[in-house]
Amino acid sequence: MFPQQIAALADQVIAGEPIRRSQAEWLAGLEQPWLHDLFRGATRIREHFVGSAVRCCSIVSAKTGRCSEDCGFCSQSAHFKTHVRGLTILDPDQVVQAAMEAAASGADSFGIVNSGYGPTDQEIDHWGRVAQRIREKGLTRTCASMGILDGDQARRLARFGVQRYNHNLQTSRRHFPNIIKTHSYDERLGTLRHLKAAGVSVCSGALFGMGETWTDRLDLAFELRDLDVDVVPINFLIPIDGTPLEGSDPLEPMECLKIIAVYRFCLPRQEIKIAGGRERNLRDLQSWIFYAGADSFLIGNYLTTYGRPAEEDRQMVRDLGLVLEGYGDGAATVGGPQAHSATTGHRAAARRIPLPVVAAVG
Ligand code: SF4
Repeated sequence: MFPQQIAALADQVIAGEPIRRSQAEWLAGLEQPWLHDLFRGATRIREHFVGSAVRCCSIVSAKTGRCSEDCGFCSQSAHFKTHVRGLTILDPDQVVQAAMEAAASGADSFGIVNSGYGPTDQEIDHWGRVAQRIREKGLTRTCASMGILDGDQARRLARFGVQRYNHNLQTSRRHFPNIIKTHSYDERLGTLRHLKAAGVSVCSGALFGMGETWTDRLDLAFELRDLDVDVVPINFLIPIDGTPLEGSDPLEPMECLKIIAVYRFCLPRQEIKIAGGRERNLRDLQSWIFYAGADSFLIGNYLTTYGRPAEEDRQMVRDLGLVLEGYGDGAATVGGPQAHSATTGHRAAARRIPLPVVAAVG
């Protein structure tokens, strides 16, 4: 009976009728042995709306550490004693080089990430000019993640050529104050609205594994659907020593996959991007993210933790018979193992660029 009900819900979504909250709650309550039926439904939805295309993006922590905010998962907060010490700011040339290497690795988007509550006007101008240089090369979409913005700042970033902005809501409105006290959920929501008004593509998602309930997860999924965001990054917590979430129990791989699948049912047309914590939380089931409905992932390193080598991810996509699409017109021109990124790739990054940022982008 359950397999038919799950398939019927997938049919409903494919036919263009959004899933209702009560239906999403029913899906979220499924356990083994029905999870494979859930994943099959999510795969059908992904294939219907996205086909076999897969996208990946990359980020660089351009400004790292000494953050005034107290996000309970973050190694960069000045409120906590973690492995991230002091402030690190990359040179513009280093950031442009990282963008080019990310593009060579197959990333269709490249994000400039800054720690902090939000950018100053000088930082908008400084990183906006760097974004402009990257945009002019035309090899990757230009993204930024710099915290809370007002309307004028969002418009100025758009004028510099920033095409997409990441700003995660992280968790539900209810759970948010348990994790972050120095700014509000509404400030984050406001930033997303300013970006949409400025014509900037919005990337906003969640960090799971912070003690949230399924009610919180669904509250956020429906909020993101109402906001009609373009990309939904899904991060899984990597507990950082020294933060309030140090020692949190990790999510089980099948629970991570269930989250991805339920989000695909709720957000059928969005790019669902698996970001921080993929390797650590999913372990050998990493490639199952596509079976669970994801169509996008972060390649290379995270903000203050290492990802696995980009070539392993490209091989995973090829082995699954999926197609990695780059920026622009269709299939990505990706290099072989020799194209291993010096900045976003695992080994070289450890050698050259100071690795700063945590799993979830601010
Ligand atoms: S997530 Fe961003 S805003 Fe929050 S503490 Fe970390 S760097 Fe600061």
